[in-house]
Amino acid sequence: MTVIGVDDTDSRTRGMCTTYLATRLAARLGADGASVRRKLLIRLNPAVEHKTRGNAALALHTDADPDRALSLAAAELDPLAETDDPRTSPGVVVAPGSPDEVPNAVRSFSRRAVRDILDRESAVDLADRVGYRHRGWSGGRGQIGALAAVGAWGANGTWTHERIAYREFDRCGTPREVDEASVFDAAEAAYPTVWDTVDRTAGEAVCVPNAPGPILYGIRGDDPDAVEAVADRIRSEPVERAATFLTNQGTDAHLRDGTVGDLRDGGAYRVDGTVASDPETRQGGHVFFALRDRSDPASRVDCVAFEPTKRFRDRIRGLRPGDDLTVCGEVSGGTVKLEKFAVRSLRRTESTTPTCSGCGRTMESAGRDQGYRCRDCGTTAAERATVTLDRDLEVGWYEVPPRARRHIAKPLVRGGFDAPAHPER
Ligand code: ATP
Repeated sequence: MTVIGVDDTDSRTRGMCTTYLATRLAARLGADGASVRRKLLIRLNPAVEHKTRGNAALALHTDADPDRALSLAAAELDPLAETDDPRTSPGVVVAPGSPDEVPNAVRSFSRRAVRDILDRESAVDLADRVGYRHRGWSGGRGQIGALAAVGAWGANGTWTHERIAYREFDRCGTPREVDEASVFDAAEAAYPTVWDTVDRTAGEAVCVPNAPGPILYGIRGDDPDAVEAVADRIRSEPVERAATFLTNQGTDAHLRDGTVGDLRDGGAYRVDGTVASDPETRQGGHVFFALRDRSDPASRVDCVAFEPTKRFRDRIRGLRPGDDLTVCGEVSGGTVKLEKFAVRSLRRTESTTPTCSGCGRTMESAGRDQGYRCRDCGTTAAERATVTLDRDLEVGWYEVPPRARRHIAKPLVRGGFDAPAHPER
């Protein structure tokens, strides 16, 4: 066996995307007499700055000879290096041997590529050390993702599937012709095995990208046959080619457990805390609140639900200081960009100034440490009153809607969460 990793082939001028390149390379290997056993689509750290879109890297598991594999991959990548698109910095890594036998150091690199920020030198050093063939073009930054894709088979614990249909090349850049009713019907029939195909509440076919490029639609789910069946039911312009990938999408592989005090920019976390401020809608419609550490109240971090998360913001607006949460998201500029959160406990009461039993009006302070009184009726109260809060939220997990989901984030409907889930669909 041979494992080929490729990354960073996106080019605005050529309308490329790495999944498309990998699909073409698989066809080329086939025409050359080799077979391709698996195609992997790996989402790496979504916080990487120079990603084009979803920070994808690709791997092919094939029986091609490693040298032949490298030269065929290079033949696909060479033309890309000719473009002067500064975003394109392709890399390829070829590992001789079975994907099951990738050395631990490469698996570990792959795990870190999903959660940390790595550099090209360490990728190239490691590839050399373990005897992999590799090449880079225009800086070769793609070698980071390519090596991570090679190690992914041994590094990743959970696999999901995506069926991607590609457009005829000449149509790239023109509006996509996809019959939305057929997308909604197919999505409904296969939910929840197949997820994030549409955003039902927003009435949006999220499987059809907006950005230019060769992808017509991508259908994601837990089962390869199910994603293919949904794709087959979609009526659209001609599909030039299609491929089914094993992916780490929808798995939360990017999240690590953290505490409020140890969050770092560029990482994504699952962190417990208590709401420390009333939610506030700021310019642009983004909703912020502060979260504090439960055992160290001085330790705080801002959390934000951005405007595109739409109705998720209403969940955030429903929070009150004192609510215990687990929040998940990437940290950037010292702020947690929320992807999902769990309500662990809700504050049910609030202390307020007492009201007069005679006239129903709010009492006034009777002076320092002297309780409250009603000037008109003369009634008094020694303490502040406790009122019950009306809460719209329940204990359990809430998430952004499908239209705002990050590729790697796990939809609640996939299950396995430690509290009741309130999935968006
Ligand atoms: P496409 O795959 O369609 O070309 P993309 O959104 O996946 O677009 P890329 O163009 O691949 O983005 O850019 C991502 C770049 O970041 C690649 O060069 C990749 O090697 C690199 N990269 C990936 N993960 C990491 C990481 N953890 N640390 C540093 N660099 C990374």
